[in-house]
Amino acid sequence: MAALPLPALHASHGGCWLREQDLTGSGTRPISKGDAVMAAADTPLLILNAPLLATRLGYPDLSGLDLLELYAFVHPARFVVPTPKGLAHALNLEEPQGDADVPRLLQEAAGALLDMCGNPEWPEREGAWTALQSLIRMRWPWATLLTGRIQRPSQAERWLFARLPEWEETPEAPQPRQVVLSEEEVLERLTRLTGSTAEQRSGQRAYAVEAANAFAPRERAGRPHVLLAQAGTGIGKTLGYLAPTSLWTEKAGGTVWVSTYTKALQRQLRQESRRAWPEHRADGTRPVVVRKGRENYLCLLNLEDALQGGFSGRAAVLAQLVARWAAYSRDGDMIGGDLPGWLGTLFRQRGIAALTDRRGECVYAGCPHYRKCFIERAARASVGADLVIGNHALVMVNAARGRDPASRPTRIVFDEGHHVFDAADSTFAAALSGAEAIELRRWVIGPEKASKGRRRGLSARLADIASYDEAGAQAITAARAAAEALPGDGWMQRILENAASGPLEELLAAVRATVYARDESGGQEAGYGLETEAAGLDGAFVEIAQAARMALAELRQPLIRLGMRLEALLEEPPDWLDGPGRARIEGARHSLTWRVETLAAWESLLDRLGGPADPEYVDWLAVDRSEAREFDIGIHRRWLDPMKPFAKVVLEPAHGVVMTSATLRDGEDWTKAIARSGTPTIDVAPRLSIHQSPFDYASQAEVLIVTDVPKGDIPALSAAFGRLIEASGGGALGLFTAIRRLRAVHGRIADRLARGGLPLYAQHVDPIDTGTLVDIFRDDPAASLLGTDALRDGVDVPGHSLRLVVMEQVPWPRPTILHRARRLANGGSAYDDTLIRAKLAQAFGRLIRSRDDHGHFVVLSPAFPSRLLSAFPAGTPIRRVSLDEALQRVADHASGATAETIEASDPPN
Ligand code: SF4
Repeated sequence: MAALPLPALHASHGGCWLREQDLTGSGTRPISKGDAVMAAADTPLLILNAPLLATRLGYPDLSGLDLLELYAFVHPARFVVPTPKGLAHALNLEEPQGDADVPRLLQEAAGALLDMCGNPEWPEREGAWTALQSLIRMRWPWATLLTGRIQRPSQAERWLFARLPEWEETPEAPQPRQVVLSEEEVLERLTRLTGSTAEQRSGQRAYAVEAANAFAPRERAGRPHVLLAQAGTGIGKTLGYLAPTSLWTEKAGGTVWVSTYTKALQRQLRQESRRAWPEHRADGTRPVVVRKGRENYLCLLNLEDALQGGFSGRAAVLAQLVARWAAYSRDGDMIGGDLPGWLGTLFRQRGIAALTDRRGECVYAGCPHYRKCFIERAARASVGADLVIGNHALVMVNAARGRDPASRPTRIVFDEGHHVFDAADSTFAAALSGAEAIELRRWVIGPEKASKGRRRGLSARLADIASYDEAGAQAITAARAAAEALPGDGWMQRILENAASGPLEELLAAVRATVYARDESGGQEAGYGLETEAAGLDGAFVEIAQAARMALAELRQPLIRLGMRLEALLEEPPDWLDGPGRARIEGARHSLTWRVETLAAWESLLDRLGGPADPEYVDWLAVDRSEAREFDIGIHRRWLDPMKPFAKVVLEPAHGVVMTSATLRDGEDWTKAIARSGTPTIDVAPRLSIHQSPFDYASQAEVLIVTDVPKGDIPALSAAFGRLIEASGGGALGLFTAIRRLRAVHGRIADRLARGGLPLYAQHVDPIDTGTLVDIFRDDPAASLLGTDALRDGVDVPGHSLRLVVMEQVPWPRPTILHRARRLANGGSAYDDTLIRAKLAQAFGRLIRSRDDHGHFVVLSPAFPSRLLSAFPAGTPIRRVSLDEALQRVADHASGATAETIEASDPPN
């Protein structure tokens, strides 16, 4: 393999290094940021992750020959951690020895990737030549280097749409048999899954037997078996519930949904399920499928549109690389699937979003790619599957408005069950905002400006129906006219300029004025979102709201009529209506129902403004802002207790439900966990079980509450973070409750740490998606990561890479209007305490993931309330200490761990 003789640039928080194109070995030299920028502006340099480099150099226009783009072209759908070390591993090259050695690696990696294109064994060759011809026209920087290395195929190669297999229609699944699982057979199945030689874990066995109860035949309609199972980290709960699940699916022939909250757990489930099920059944179908919301998958029609001129400039290059990926993807999942999370950030995130089907514009059987569509394939695969791995939001949406009632989940395991409340809270929420309303307008009318895209309004999508059915045509015309009342392009600008147009824009203007008049959250100066409760609204406001409500009703009526016409067509189909046409009408009817429901929810929201408040709901007005820039205005409604609709929609129709988590209940108390399960609403007494973690927390972990870092003192906070990370030699996860403080701390310590060989990454600072940040952190034991909520329980990093968790302060809940209402209804400060203990327990849970993990959990809090200490597992040592003492303890542990590592890696005598 020959390194590519082109200059290569690397920049970290520790400095910049340039290697000239000569490859004599002494060519790399440190340079200043200014010189690095000049060099990059002069010639295209070999670089890794242009947006990250641009942030490091403070030069947003940076471009060059980005190795990640080349990797995405050469090895689509293949995993790589997007760091020098990660690239070295993926390409089997020598790891760089420090920052100064990175440019050498970049030259070698470029050489290796280009060589691969000439290799007859290149697995992803098919389609490369065709894609390259388009990339040459787009002047993609790598195109000239690839030309000549990729031979024109002797015969026309199968291109994306030809390569993808077609899905097959599946027969409707019969209803499951009613079976009772005996304890012996459950345990026997568990032993088979864990391997007969695996250590018999008594906690796991008890857990599996408990979980099996949820699969017993239901005794009364509307009364599912519900199990709440608190399972400490390490008991092996995944196989614990997969054992009865696999047994039941085998004996009953039904489908079980396992629902998760994080992608990390979905990934783990996919792996663990292989112990119970083969990849394919004898008939070629898959017994285990991963199912996500349709907005996660690539829409082939959108991609085709992007490839044919819908995208231009850099976005067009992205479309080509996505097309390369789609041809090799396992399932077309763009968000958390095998599309690299970093690909979107190399271009622009919206590019990826525009390729999914977010706006419900799917034309189903009217689409030329319908039979190859990833979304349709995933939906069909889940009908006959034994196990469907989904997420909480999807399970709820499917239960509420699944297209096919027969495929609604009836046996469900909610893993990460402590998140069901939050997922229900968002699923059953209503929001009438500018952004939502303009989407609806576009769905009905189509885009306003002449657009290259394929987005079309209702009349274009249903043109054939309109020409056949007079009443349908009239309904479409009426809906089109009524949708003119919704906000149009430029609505926000018009509101800012006091020139709102139409009843909905006038409503949003009134909302904005009220919010600015009343908000006292302190967010006005800080640039955050603003809100005020929807109460005490004057007559003028109520009048505007009523006008808006009437406008919405005028739109809803023709949509209902259109839905009825479509139904009539399905009942008495005309001769020309073939199978695909029928499927398309069914699809259209489904999206219509959803819109009609949304409009009804908006109308009822507006109807209540000015009247007495409904105790079931919390309503408020909000202006959403990011860094002082307004991006949305709206009226929001949440259920005071979202588990009420959850219970009706998800629990009541189900036969068996398990909710499980390491942090389900608060301390020793089940009362709140039961209330938060939704079971009281349907009058079901859940079965309760508790399984203690087998970990020895007394010797594996230590909680340090640092009492001498003053709250709100950014320099002191930064110094504490910097010194703690140094003391542990990296491997630290820093958790913040405010982005502002996270950025301030990162800005003060990142350079110094990097110079000491301790890279620091941060959410909201580095232009890298969260999943990739966690991959980078996992891959480098010297790296540390700062983040906010999403990291509190989305990080599963067992082993040495995570040995210190630092919380900047006690995670008090944000005092929003919604929180205040729930606090008032649930016991005041006791409610807060429950939430905080749950957050602390989840954060602590990141630290000890296996029997061999050791580490410190540090909270910087001068006055940590003792009543919160029960958040930590029993037996965990807790000490209130000064920062100096904490540093000492962390450093002692780090040096002990290093000694152990060295000992462990010594060759045996
Ligand atoms: S069927 Fe719908 S989602 Fe699938 S490719 Fe066609 S338009 Fe896109």
